[in-house]
Amino acid sequence: MNPDTALNVHLNEPLAIGLSWHNRFAQLGPDFLTALPPQPLPAPYWVGRSAAVARELGLDAAWMASDELLNALSGNRALAGTQPLASVYSGHQFGVWAGQLGDGRALLLGETAGGLEVQLKGAGRTPYSRGGDGRAVLRSSIREFLCSEAMHGLGVPTSRALCVTGSDAPIYREEAETAAVVTRVAPSFIRFGHFEHFAYRNQLPQLQQLADYVIDRYYPACRTTDQFNGNPYAALLQAVSERTAKMVAHWQAVGFCHGVMNTDNMSILGLTIDYGPFQFLDGFDPAHICNHSDTQGRYAYQQQPNIAYWNLFCLGQALLPLIEEQELALAALESYKTAFPAALQDRMRAKLGLKEAVPGDLALIEAVLKLLAQDKVDYTIFWRRLSHWVADGQTEPVRDLFLNRPGLDAWLLQYSELLTHVNKGLAFDLMLKTNPKFVLRNHLGEQAIRAAKLKDFSGVHTLLALLEDPFAEHPGFESYADFPPDWASSIEISCSS
Ligand code: AMP
Ligand code: MG
Repeated sequence: MNPDTALNVHLNEPLAIGLSWHNRFAQLGPDFLTALPPQPLPAPYWVGRSAAVARELGLDAAWMASDELLNALSGNRALAGTQPLASVYSGHQFGVWAGQLGDGRALLLGETAGGLEVQLKGAGRTPYSRGGDGRAVLRSSIREFLCSEAMHGLGVPTSRALCVTGSDAPIYREEAETAAVVTRVAPSFIRFGHFEHFAYRNQLPQLQQLADYVIDRYYPACRTTDQFNGNPYAALLQAVSERTAKMVAHWQAVGFCHGVMNTDNMSILGLTIDYGPFQFLDGFDPAHICNHSDTQGRYAYQQQPNIAYWNLFCLGQALLPLIEEQELALAALESYKTAFPAALQDRMRAKLGLKEAVPGDLALIEAVLKLLAQDKVDYTIFWRRLSHWVADGQTEPVRDLFLNRPGLDAWLLQYSELLTHVNKGLAFDLMLKTNPKFVLRNHLGEQAIRAAKLKDFSGVHTLLALLEDPFAEHPGFESYADFPPDWASSIEISCSS
C-alpha cells in the first residue's frame, strides 16, 4: 500500500472523540432535510478555538489541539456517531418572500448528549446552495466566531462557536479569498423560515410535525398551558415572541445591529444566529445601517424591534393553520408589545445602575439617548465612563465626550438626584456588570482579519480572550477599548460572505 492510500484509509475511518451523539432532528425525515457528508477542505489549519465551548460540549481539551479533530471539523473525516445533514427552510428576505432557501453551506453533524447541536458552516455545497459554492470566506468566519463568543460574554442569547478552521483553498467573492469553516453550537438551528417553508407549501402534516417537535423538545410548557383555550401552538407563538423580545431588547441595550433580520435568520429559540454584516455601534446613531447591501435601511439599529415583530407576524401566519383561530394568533403576538418595552426598560435601567424602577428613570433614559444621538457620542465608552463616574465623581471623562456640555451637566444633575434613592456602591457594581468595556467593533475585527490573512492568528486569540469577559478591566489592553480610528467608518460590510 503506498503512503497516500494508507492516509486515505486512516482518514476514512470515523473519528471517535468521546462524545455520544444523537440526532433527533434527523429523525424528522426526508421532507425536512438531505443527508450528505461535508466537502473536504484541503490542508486545514486552526484559526481560533474556544476552550469554553469545548468544555460545554464535554469535549476533552486535548482534542482541540489535535490534527484529527482539525480534519474532522474541516470536513475531511467523519465524526463517529454523527449524521451530517442540510435542512430545508424558506423565508422572507428584506421584506419579500424569497421561497425556498435552506442550509446552503451549513451541515448539522448531530447533537451531543447535553442536547447541543453542532453545525459546520462553510462545509460545501448542498441541495439548497442555489448556485452558491457552499463555502464561507475567512473574514466572515472570524467575525462569526468572535461575535458569537462576544455576545455570549455579554449575556445575550446566541449560538456559540467552537472554532474556525482555515485553508488556503481559494474561493471567489468580489475578489479571490480563502475558505474557512466555523463550527457552530446551539440547542437548535431551527428558524422561523422552517415553519414558513411548510406553511407556504400547504404541507400541514409536516408543519404540525415540526411544531410538535419544537414544543416537545424546547417548549414543553406549551402543552399544559391554560391560556389560548389550551392551544399549544398559540402558546408556542407567545413563548417565541417573548424570547425574541428579550433578545432584541438586549441587542438594543448593548448597541448591536444584526444587519440581516430576514425570517430565515430568526431562531425559534430567540437566539442571535447567522452573524453576517453585524456591527456594534461606535457613535450612537439610531438610524445607523450596518449592512452595506441594505440600501433602504430596513435593518437599521432603531428598526430592529419593529422588524422582529414583523418577523414574528410571519411566524404567526405560518402557524395559523395549527392555531386555527386568528384571534388567538394575534393575542399571542400581542405579548411582544409588552415584553419588548419591559425588557428594554429593565436593560436600560441596569445601565444606569438601577435594579428596579425609580420615579423619573424612564425620562432620564430617554433624555440621555437624545443627548448621545445629538453628538453621536461613542455608545460603549459613554456607558463605561458613566459607570466610573458613579464611583469616583470625576465628571471630565464623561463631559469630554459631548459637544453639548450644558445639556450633559443638566442631565448629570438629574441623574445624581435619582442616585440618592439607591445604594451607590451597588449601582456601580451593577453598571460594571452591565456596561461592557470591550465590544467587537468593526475595526477590531478587521485588524484581526488582516493579520489572519497573513497567517498571524494572535489578533483573533487576543480578541476572543477580551470578549469572552468584556466586563473585566483587562489591564494592558486599553487600546481595544478605545475610540475607533478614522478609517473604521470606511469599512463596508455587506451580505457577501
Ligand atoms: P445568509 O444571508 O448568510 O443568511 O444566507 C442566505 C441563504 O443563502 C442561506 O440559505 C444560505 O445557506 C445561502 N448561502 C449564503 N452563502 C452561500 C454560499 N456561499 N453557498 C451556498 N449557499 C449560500
Ligand atoms: Mg442565514
